[in-house]
Amino acid sequence: MKALARLDDMLGHLEARHRRRVVAPRQGVDFASNDYLGLTGSAFLKEAALRVLARDVPLGAGGSRLLRGNHPEHEALEAEAAAFFGAQAALFMGGGFQANQAIFSTLPAAGDLVAYDALVHASAHEGFRLGRADLRSFAHNDVEAARQTIADWRASGGAGQVWIAVESVYSMEGDLAPLAAFDRLAQAEEAVLVVDEAHATGVFGPSGRGLAHGLQAEVLSLHTCGKGLGVSGGLVCGAKVFIDSLVSRARPFIFATAPAPFTAALLREVLAHLAATPALVAQAQARIAFAHDQARLHRIDRAGLHSQIIPVILGGDAQVMAWADRLRGQGFDLRGIRPPTVARGTARLRISVTGNVTPAEIAALFETLAAYQKEAA
Ligand code: PMP
Repeated sequence: MKALARLDDMLGHLEARHRRRVVAPRQGVDFASNDYLGLTGSAFLKEAALRVLARDVPLGAGGSRLLRGNHPEHEALEAEAAAFFGAQAALFMGGGFQANQAIFSTLPAAGDLVAYDALVHASAHEGFRLGRADLRSFAHNDVEAARQTIADWRASGGAGQVWIAVESVYSMEGDLAPLAAFDRLAQAEEAVLVVDEAHATGVFGPSGRGLAHGLQAEVLSLHTCGKGLGVSGGLVCGAKVFIDSLVSRARPFIFATAPAPFTAALLREVLAHLAATPALVAQAQARIAFAHDQARLHRIDRAGLHSQIIPVILGGDAQVMAWADRLRGQGFDLRGIRPPTVARGTARLRISVTGNVTPAEIAALFETLAAYQKEAA
């Protein structure tokens, strides 16, 4: 009985923390989502959905792709995504998390090395854990450290394939990877460069094709479809041999219900829209530049950041949550990010410059933050 009471107490405590973390309602202007182009509620997407419905595309897959779940919409999306992202082939999965898990649990083999940036996403770690390759991390965005990590592994007898795992835009830091240098390293080492483009797709690169577009090394890129693209899913793009291998061996692909054909069809519309409307990305970039100008004006910006994600690192967990609550009370929806999502002592407000905000709202947010800073000084 005592043990049960303790467990109940512990779960109650966890649940309260969880609720506070995850379930704060949407409230105020969207500086918190990953809806970077503002597509989720857009007239474009609603009209696209009606067009798809009019074509009588099923709303659910009804099974795994390898059974009856496969649909021509999935295959059409994969062909179009491969062409759009400049890859030989593509595979559509239910989400980016699932895709990262599939890539790293399946492709690197026993005797291979996965050298990964210290800040890659939890979903990549999920795949690492399930895979059989050797794992070594290198300091964030440090290409020289990555080179040394690979050299050390080889010196210790490592002889298999090397895989280098990075993201193009880091979700909590907002910084970009030095992809040109990683590209040269991967070529020199004959490594496969795996680039998670979750926060770059739709925002960076020509028509939102991401930052890995045009690299020379053997690249496998992951484009999540629930952020800039406004829908959901994950597109893995790369050499056909990798895609075929995922289809025949990746458990998160084989044993999961396929994403709805409706979703695939909607994403086809989104990719076509991006290709036809370069202004979408230009507008996002102008918005991001304006936000950084405002941040600099109020001395909130950290040097070297250029993306839509602008972290304001306050350090103290309580202060971050208090500021986030107060901002929400003033009409700005921002979320505090605390350890263990980020390193201890680096709790932060994560400003996301979404497609759902106006320049005036951006200016007002930074003015408000500057006032808080003044107060706290
Ligand atoms: N990779 C990164 C870098 C991410 O930030 C996320 C989402 N938070 C994912 C992968 C997972 O993608 P999804 O949300 O589509 O499952």
